[in-house]
Formats: sequence, C-alpha cells, structure tokens
Amino acid sequence: MNNEIPRATALRLPIYHRYLRFLQNAGKKRISSTELSEAVKVDSATIRRDFSYFGALGKRGYGYDVDYLTDFFAKILNHDRLTTVGLIGVGNLGSALLNYNFRKNHNIRIGAAFDVNADLVGTIFVGVPVYSMDELEQQIKDQHIEIIILTVPEQFAEEIVDRLIEVGIRGILNFTPLRFNVPNDVLVQNVDLTNELQTLIYFIDNEFTT
Ligand code: ATP
Repeated sequence: MNNEIPRATALRLPIYHRYLRFLQNAGKKRISSTELSEAVKVDSATIRRDFSYFGALGKRGYGYDVDYLTDFFAKILNHDRLTTVGLIGVGNLGSALLNYNFRKNHNIRIGAAFDVNADLVGTIFVGVPVYSMDELEQQIKDQHIEIIILTVPEQFAEEIVDRLIEVGIRGILNFTPLRFNVPNDVLVQNVDLTNELQTLIYFIDNEFTT
C-alpha cells in the first residue's frame, strides 16, 4: 500500500470495502458519499478526503461507482491474494484464534503455529501444524509468512520480536501488553483486550455516576 496514506485512512479501508461489497452483492451500482457516510458512520467530508488519496473517484451528482470502488479497494487491501499468517504461543488465546482462523475471510489463513510446549509441537491443531521455536525462521521463509500473531507470555515476547525483525517479518499483531521498538519497515498492531474492556467499564461507570 502507498506509504503516503494516513494510518487513520488505512484503518477505514476495510470498513468501506465491506460495505461496498455488501452493496455490490445487493446489485447496487452507485452510492453517494452521503449515503455511504450514513451506512459506515464516517462523516462524508472524511470519506471524500480518504478517497482523494487514491485519486478517487466520485463524480459530482453521480456519486461513486460501486463495482469500480469495490475492486479498487480489494486490490489495495490485497483481498485478491491469500495472506498466510503465523501464530506464536498456542495457549488459551492462541488456541481460540486458531479455532477461529478467519474462516469468514477467504484471504487470511493462519498456516503455521509455533510453541515451546513439547506436547503441542508436531501436532496439528484444528488443521494448523504446530512447529517448535527452533523451526521459526525456516518455516517463516519456506511459507512466505509476513505477519505474525503474538500470543506468548510477555516475558518471552521481546526476544521473539527480535528474531522476527531479524528474519524480516513485516507485521506483528501483538496480544501481549508489551510495546516494542521496531524498525520503520515493521508494523506492530497492539491488541489489549483487558484494556479495551477496562475502558468500556470505566465509561459505563462514569455515565452512571455523573
Ligand atoms: P494465554 O495467555 O493465551 O491465556 P495460557 O495462559 O494458556 O495462554 P501462557 O503461559 O500465557 O498460557 O502461554 C501461552 C502459550 O505460549 C503456551 O502454549 C506456551 O507454551 C507458549 N510459550 C511460552 N513461552 C514461549 C516461547 N518462548 N516461545 C513460544 N511459545 C511460548
């Protein structure tokens, strides 16, 4: 993807794409930025600005061409190719993600899992082989894995991330509470489920007390 696109815009692309595909399946041919805005809950000025980064694409009085935009975003989001993802740490959370395995999305698959637990290594967990950590670099190269989901205990995360950087991983979905220093060409997306819930609880509590 073009590096000039702001992160906030990039994060909205899957939302646009999902809704456009829904419209396409419903046989709709065009949509105005106002309609799109109401459907995806993003204000229409933001939508127009987001789309303008792609040289896009609407015509005044006509709106946006649904087929064209759907294909356009699919390409940007790489929905026309399969992304194989690796997962490190087949504990409670890792197992849940392996069970889930993004089945509703045809373009993402966890293809390899890694763990230090000898009982897990060498098994196939819901269709995904579990490798030892000794095989990490080799499997990443052989399977062209560019993205890793990290669900290990936090005390081991730093050392693993160093290995991932060394082997040339492009992105890490980090479920540990640690925050890493990584080179500019590696992206880390932090997911802190406890934090999210606590934020929610905080806002609910405050609404009730103020
Ligand atoms: P979760 O944190 O997902 O609830 P859990 O409580 O079941 O998991 P943890 O101790 O957090 O277990 O470990 C998660 C998984 O990470 C386990 O399967 C464990 O064997 C694995 N693991 C621990 N250390 C490492 C490591 N250095 N490299 C790879 N995997 C590891």
